[in-house]
Amino acid sequence: MVDYIVDIGLEVHVELATRTKMFCGCPVVDPTHCEPNIAVCPVCTGMPGVLPVVNKKAVEFGIKAALALNCKIAEQSIFARKNYFYPDLPKGYQISQYEYPLAKNGYLKIVTSQGERDIRIRRAHLEEDTGKLTHFSEEGNSYSLVDLNRSGIPLLEIVTEPDIHSIEEALAYSHALHTLLRYLEVTTGDMEKGAMRFEANVSLRPANSNTMGKRVEIKNLNSFRAMERAIAYQITQQRKLLEKGRTVTQETLGWDDVHSVTVAQRSKEEAHDYRYFPEPDLPPLIVEKDWLKKITTSIPELPYAKKQRYKKEYGLQNDDIDRLISEKPVAEYFETCLQEAAHISPKVVANWITGELFSWMNQSGEHIQDLRVHPKDLVELLRNVERKTINQNTAKDVLLEMLHSGKNSANIIQQKDLQQISDGTFIERLIQNVLAENPQEVDYYLNGKETVANWFFGQVMKAAKGKANPKVVKEELARQLELLKSG
Ligand SMILES: [Zn+2]
Repeated sequence: MVDYIVDIGLEVHVELATRTKMFCGCPVVDPTHCEPNIAVCPVCTGMPGVLPVVNKKAVEFGIKAALALNCKIAEQSIFARKNYFYPDLPKGYQISQYEYPLAKNGYLKIVTSQGERDIRIRRAHLEEDTGKLTHFSEEGNSYSLVDLNRSGIPLLEIVTEPDIHSIEEALAYSHALHTLLRYLEVTTGDMEKGAMRFEANVSLRPANSNTMGKRVEIKNLNSFRAMERAIAYQITQQRKLLEKGRTVTQETLGWDDVHSVTVAQRSKEEAHDYRYFPEPDLPPLIVEKDWLKKITTSIPELPYAKKQRYKKEYGLQNDDIDRLISEKPVAEYFETCLQEAAHISPKVVANWITGELFSWMNQSGEHIQDLRVHPKDLVELLRNVERKTINQNTAKDVLLEMLHSGKNSANIIQQKDLQQISDGTFIERLIQNVLAENPQEVDYYLNGKETVANWFFGQVMKAAKGKANPKVVKEELARQLELLKSG
């Protein structure tokens, strides 16, 4: 049986998080909270005789993303008309960039079970989004409605070389890109609202061949899950064809998530079908050196660099790091905690965040920015544990109450009288009482059933209402049991 190499290239459309559209002043509105066709004007509805004006913020966001992807930014790029007819495109063309894109030749580092690799970025260019069609079918009649609120929203299209060779790599790339762009705050990254959409080119070639196979393009992949399933489906289909000695047809397909199949959309257009030509209503886009410099310095520490630093500076494990850096606000929360309390171990802080706070956020649906417990409050709580004012378990209860009520830890500890008891004489007496009240269990213990010691420990903690310092109790209990044995 022939072995095949899979070649995948990804095109990612990213909605840039500007306030207004790419070429007009219409606001960018949330598609889930807005009536159709209200954020529109003559420019973005394609009325004749209107003139587009480039949104500077969109260009800035595009440059920022391209720089973070290690691309070379073109000093001069050209907007072009991509001509085609579709009901969601009233102008009959889309303003995009073709021959001279904003940025070229970058790469993004990915990490998979196979280790680290660079996926090359071929180009990143600016364009405008189309409107949105919704298809209905009622009592045998089918019809479609068009909403132009989305028409003209700025997009950055990021295109890779066909460097991706497995589904794992495709997912690693898309997740890394999603995280990176959210760190840069150039997009909301909200996939459910279509802020990031994927298209995948998939082809197979025999392992001994250097010539790429015929590729199939899959459009409309609006979630990581859909992308994963669609690529897996195509790999299986193409392998079956090739194994039967047949050829793959080069075409564009859509992904039907409900039936889990790719479906024919239209035969693949070649670039010349679009009759690209420079947009006559827009001058060349010039990126001046000073502006480029300013944007470069505005780029924050990015996830890959952060990961290396957390490993080196804080000695954290990969899994912990991945959880801390997956969202920039979480990483910021963690770093603020460390600034507040340089002496508390980063590992301890990381555990409280990825343990208690994450489980609270999962249950409540709150984001870390919404928590009533700020970094300084968490640190204050951890100081109480460190000073042994309260023990670990009490601290977890206090934290829960802090998250519920927004009260600070000192208040809760005082109000509920939760201070940990470390007083040796008090604990000594407590243990004496427990042993005196349970002569039968003492007998069991003296006759060799040593596990009873755990039961005694539980009884003492119960008598102390959970507030006794467990370490002191353990030591004192061992001492008294030892005395009984030798006595
Ligand atoms: Zn408009």
